[in-house]
Amino acid sequence: MKRDQLTATILKETNLKNRFLDYVQVDTQSVEGSETFPSSLKEKVLGAKLVDELKSLGITDAEMDENGYVYAKLASNCGNKKRVAFIAHMDVALDCAGEGVKPVLHENYDGSAIKLNAGIVIDPEDSTELKQCIGDTIITSDGTTLLGADDKAGVAAIMSMAEYLLKHPEIKRPEIRICFTPDEEIGCGVDRINLEKVDADFAYTLDGGFPYEVNYENFNAFSAKVTFKGISIHPGYAKDKMVNAIRYAGKFVDLLPKTMSPERTCGREPFIHPVGIEGNLEEAKVSMILRSFVPEDITREENIILNIIELLKSEEPRLQVTPVFKESYLNMYEVMKDHMEVYTYVEKAIEELGAKPDVEPIRGGTDGARLSFMGLPCPNIFAGGVNFHSQKEWVALENIALASAVTVKIVENVVK
Ligand SMILES: [Zn+2]
Repeated sequence: MKRDQLTATILKETNLKNRFLDYVQVDTQSVEGSETFPSSLKEKVLGAKLVDELKSLGITDAEMDENGYVYAKLASNCGNKKRVAFIAHMDVALDCAGEGVKPVLHENYDGSAIKLNAGIVIDPEDSTELKQCIGDTIITSDGTTLLGADDKAGVAAIMSMAEYLLKHPEIKRPEIRICFTPDEEIGCGVDRINLEKVDADFAYTLDGGFPYEVNYENFNAFSAKVTFKGISIHPGYAKDKMVNAIRYAGKFVDLLPKTMSPERTCGREPFIHPVGIEGNLEEAKVSMILRSFVPEDITREENIILNIIELLKSEEPRLQVTPVFKESYLNMYEVMKDHMEVYTYVEKAIEELGAKPDVEPIRGGTDGARLSFMGLPCPNIFAGGVNFHSQKEWVALENIALASAVTVKIVENVVK
């Protein structure tokens, strides 16, 4: 794949490779339903290590707070007072084994299928991005765990940016802020972030996939829970008396539009996705998530649900149905559209590296969405990895360096 000279220079002049290999071997899997913050106290082990490393690079203003967030400041060297933050998350996903990661290097990759332990094969026919990485150093796990490039590639890229800028004081930089967060994978990545400590005008998360992905749009996300209340009675004497909530919950799910499901949609298409069903004949509940890029589609989805409810109630007037809709997160574009200069810095950075940004709306959420609504506009940039949350996760070392090069170019452009 095409990469600018800066990428090779960062790879040569910074400790990128060793630091990435080091980070992935620290177990930082977050834990769903934990009582503590961060959800796994092991995340703080990496946090403490990162603070030490920032200090050894010469960044004296670096600390980890009691919640496991790492904050660091690198002062401007040219009087430019703009404050730009780079953010990555330290935890790794829990959908896949994530403890005891043993990274494997496949140097000078030849384009063939990569065979790992436990019969895991990363085939360039499925993972087509591999074809663009011939000659690169591909990093995988040994096949028994995920790798954790999501998002330790982002952490390593930001750390190497800091190292590179400190080695090159001739590069004019604004006020730079660094923040490493815990618990992104369980949706709590910014729950306890201290924006005063982040201390920035705008920010970038480095949590995207393959080059040159950039995102400034994500789903509007709502949840819906519909409760069906029936009438319970001894089945032997139930004729014309029983109303079985299970039957109506089942019927409700069956009437949801099948073309509007995650398995049948892509791009900008919205969906309604049933994620849970529970109950007995007296009471049954169906949980769903609603997703769309425009608010009008959420209203449309809510109306679809309400219409099905009306239909079922007209069929069985004794049935009681209660829907509850709740907002989860919103499309960051609502904020970004008034701050597009934040995106323009990335676009220019990538163009200066001889490429074009691959702008994609995220069919999911991002910490940057919540940060944007908290007043910190925050698009997302690739960190290099592919096949997140799986034993087939991989990253080309050169692409982590490329992400780092993009951040260096952003820094330059903010000053210009
Ligand atoms: Zn991530």
